[in-house]
Amino acid sequence: MKSFNLRQLKLRSGEEYRDEIELELEPFEFGGERYLPVPGTVPAELAITKASTGTVFQLGFNARLHGPCYRCLGDAVLELPISAREYQATNPDGSDELRTPYLSDDNLDLTAWARDAVALALPDKILCRADCAGLCPTCGKNLNDEPHTHDDEPTDSRWAALEALREQL
Ligand SMILES: [Zn+2]
Ligand SMILES: [Zn+2]
Repeated sequence: MKSFNLRQLKLRSGEEYRDEIELELEPFEFGGERYLPVPGTVPAELAITKASTGTVFQLGFNARLHGPCYRCLGDAVLELPISAREYQATNPDGSDELRTPYLSDDNLDLTAWARDAVALALPDKILCRADCAGLCPTCGKNLNDEPHTHDDEPTDSRWAALEALREQL
C-alpha cells in the first residue's frame, strides 16, 4: 500500500480505526551509499484516532536495510523498529505544527511517511557490527578478516630518507 484514502473512513470523535496493512518501502541513499529494504514490502500497523480537535495517525513496522558497512564496505544489515506518529488538526489555521505533511486531499502518503520515519531512525553510521575494525589505512585489507598492523615498516618520512642514504653507502 502506497497511500491510504481517508474518505472511506467515517470516524467520529473518539473513534479509532486500526488495520494491518502491507507497506512498500523505498531504497535509501545514505552517506553516498545505497541501502535496500529487504523485504521491500512489510506488514505495518496503521491506527487512525479521531479526537474533537483533530486526528492522530500512528504507523508501526519493522524495517530491515541491507547495504555496505561504513567502515569495511562489507554487508551490513540494519534492523529498525519504527513507531511514527503524526497529527492533523481539524482546523490547522495555517500552522504547520498542526498539520501533517503526508496528508493531502484526504490521502495519507504512506510511502513518504515511512521513508522519513526510517531516515529519522538511522544511526550516524551504518556498520556491519558495532566493533567493525574497518579497512587497514596502510594496505586497504579488511581488518576483520586479517587483523594486522604495520609496526615494522617505517611510517616517518625521516626514516625513509635514512633508508635511502644507507642504500647509497
Ligand atoms: Zn564493517
Ligand atoms: Zn594493512
